[in-house]
Amino acid sequence: MNLYNLKHNEEQVSFTQAVKQGLGKQQGLFFPDSIPAFDDIDAVLDLDFHARCAKLLAALLDNELSEAELFEMVSKAFTFSAPLNKVTEQISALELFHGPTLAFKDFGGRFMAQCLAKFSSGNKTTILTATSGDTGAAVAHAFYGMENINVVVLYPKGKISPLQEKLFCTLGGNITTVAVESDFDACQSMVKQAFDDQELKQAIGLNSANSINISRLVAQVCYYFEAAAQLPKAQREQLVVAVPSGNFGNLTAGLIAKAMGLPIKRFIAATNVNDTVPRYLASGNWEPKPTQATLSNAMDVSQPNNWPRVEELFKTKGWPLSELGKGVMTDEQTAQTVKALDDLGYVCEPHGAIAYQQLTEQLEEGEQGLFLCTAHPAKFKESVEEILQREIDLPKPLADRADLDLLSKEMPADFAQLRKLLMSI
Ligand SMILES: *Cc1c(COP(=O)(O)O)cnc(C)c1O
Repeated sequence: MNLYNLKHNEEQVSFTQAVKQGLGKQQGLFFPDSIPAFDDIDAVLDLDFHARCAKLLAALLDNELSEAELFEMVSKAFTFSAPLNKVTEQISALELFHGPTLAFKDFGGRFMAQCLAKFSSGNKTTILTATSGDTGAAVAHAFYGMENINVVVLYPKGKISPLQEKLFCTLGGNITTVAVESDFDACQSMVKQAFDDQELKQAIGLNSANSINISRLVAQVCYYFEAAAQLPKAQREQLVVAVPSGNFGNLTAGLIAKAMGLPIKRFIAATNVNDTVPRYLASGNWEPKPTQATLSNAMDVSQPNNWPRVEELFKTKGWPLSELGKGVMTDEQTAQTVKALDDLGYVCEPHGAIAYQQLTEQLEEGEQGLFLCTAHPAKFKESVEEILQREIDLPKPLADRADLDLLSKEMPADFAQLRKLLMSI
């Protein structure tokens, strides 16, 4: 698989290099120079989950890893299912939260861990990532206990749910967590500074694991195919997929799946009031505003870092950007939707609810709607319980950690202090 840097097209790397490097020169994102398409999608969809994932990835990586190697990797990474749950006649939920940290980021995080373990050949590696909630948990769990790999996770102090914090800030061992006294964008900018620091990068074998790493995106392509595989054939052709979006990695993966031949009619990018992209789609102007805290806090991102990949994909495929649907929801509308879904017998957390609501507003007759449920409702227990006015159960991975002490270090948004910490691990 050849990839080029979106900021410096002459910088070209293999998949292995792109995974190890994370970002290219001047923090440019890597983007595949071609995406293979399958002629016979039904044959692909007929395969078992792991066999299909290995086939898709082998094609996408142009056999840089063999189908057999990939089969072993996905069997270790994807140890949980991605079931469809029918909510109405026209709309189904794709549940991506059955992994160890109860969010879709387990798919990307765990496959990336497999890749890095394979590619680092025993050299010391430090994974540095910023999280607005779920990435951190997924990455920390995916690498927990791996030899020669240290993980450092930055997150905005007080801006992620207490249970979410428990899930990954209680591990210890090779996992260091840092509560930064600022917002997610500040955490992300500290991470970017670290990657610009060549001396630091060399010294600690720096690597990123947030949604910019290409290995995470290719892993996520797999569950779009899995969703289609579970639908009756007649419904596959009229599929509209609503994606609750923050950094737009999930949407990028869906678009790659479409480019590979999966018959998705259109996508809807659904956001909370951090709506830089919907406003951009409407006006053509890129005008990020300060990040606002919302109920769907994993999408509290005003400068979504995967957006350049989305635009590049539309450009190279010749798809008009106007085909991308959009929708913005306030917290009040989100809470109403969580209630409405509960009335339909489906308990959903705020991120998934935002995507569901856009489908109900934008689906046309004859279309089949799919919304991505990116986290388990219990992961957002406080808000879901307040909205529904009743208690919901904690699944085991959360219940097990709820009483453990937090091990996070605290820090202002100051790169010098982060650098010192990184050098000392
Ligand atoms: C990360 C996250 C999102 C946003 O996904 P992106 O790929 O960053 O757009 C949505 N919902 C949940 C629960 C998340 O953790």
